[in-house]
Amino acid sequence: MIMKGNFIYADNAATTRMSDSVLEAMLPYMQEHYGNASAVYRIGRDSHQAIEQARKRIAKVINAGPMDIYFTSCGTEADNWAVKGIARKLAEEGKKHIITSCIEHHAILHSCEALEKEGFDVTYLPVDEKGRITPEQVKDAIREDTALVSIMYANNEIGTIEPVAEIGQVCHDAGVLFHTDAVQTAGILPIDVKAQNIDMMSVSAHKFNGPKGVGFLYCKRNLHPQTFMDGGAQERGHRAGTENVAGIVGMAQALEDAKNARDEIAPKLAAMRDYIQSGLLEIPDSQVNGDQDHRLPGTLNMSFAKVDGQSLLFSLDLKGIAASSGSACASGSLDPSHVLLALGLPYELAHGSLRITVGRYNTMEEADQIIQAVKEVVADLRN
Ligand SMILES: *Cc1c(COP(=O)(O)O)cnc(C)c1O
Repeated sequence: MIMKGNFIYADNAATTRMSDSVLEAMLPYMQEHYGNASAVYRIGRDSHQAIEQARKRIAKVINAGPMDIYFTSCGTEADNWAVKGIARKLAEEGKKHIITSCIEHHAILHSCEALEKEGFDVTYLPVDEKGRITPEQVKDAIREDTALVSIMYANNEIGTIEPVAEIGQVCHDAGVLFHTDAVQTAGILPIDVKAQNIDMMSVSAHKFNGPKGVGFLYCKRNLHPQTFMDGGAQERGHRAGTENVAGIVGMAQALEDAKNARDEIAPKLAAMRDYIQSGLLEIPDSQVNGDQDHRLPGTLNMSFAKVDGQSLLFSLDLKGIAASSGSACASGSLDPSHVLLALGLPYELAHGSLRITVGRYNTMEEADQIIQAVKEVVADLRN
């Protein structure tokens, strides 16, 4: 059942609708093959096989080995695990410094803050007015005691894509590990962990038409992350807990589907996003936030002077349009986005922001309706 009629979903950076092929792939693992993957009998072995098959399929898409993939319950868990797991492990060698950026998702920022309370030192790199971090900045921040650099592949609020391969290179030259939060990127841009110098990477299925509540951490061979959940021997003893078999199978299907459709879908999303952008730039005192030369194809972040972002969202909701003012995690709080403030936006413009993220189920007809609705709402709110 697809909600249509008055409803337009334009918040695909928050989550996406699951595709039919993913749902179909998952269904057998709900009622038919429900065995515990650790069990020795037939339906248990079926589940085990499905998980290992999914691991291989996922690894292939990112040019990793199957044993480098650790399934998690979400992107947030993968981020927590990467940052805290490596920091605590390398602290034993006296390395207690972490480098990240000030525009990371809260899963990274709050993990770093938690480590600071444990006595770690964290450098939060600033970004330029488009949200970019340079490899030179990272290089200059690396110290003798740096354990890890964690820089996101692409930002969830403004879509800015960071030069991860070059950052990874700088890290490797200095003998420092490099983690990237690729939650917004996986399924949208090509990823090759080897060519891009990525040692660890977080991914979440629900951002690319897969199920919610499942993700993975890629962790380079022989770099075993510190065990994150204690318990059984799942995930080679590193992450206990009975596996979400259906979710894992769905994630593999979603990632493969996304890869196969990428060349067709990415230009379509970019064209739709650009079309909405030009329509909305006709609104006086409006601006685009982010880097228009290095940006995720479906992401548009704009600010409208003298408009409150929350009121904008409520009015759009009344018109049946689901959009965001930034990250879903930040909405509900009235603080302006930490990402927009990091770009140097004045408080007022950071408050008047709107994030529209289109996905594979959006149409050009919807793009027209979005433009019209936002124009009306902004005019109303300014009156
Ligand atoms: C959505 C998101 C996360 C969190 O992923 P969940 O699976 O929802 O926990 C982390 N980082 C970024 C950049 C995201 O967009």
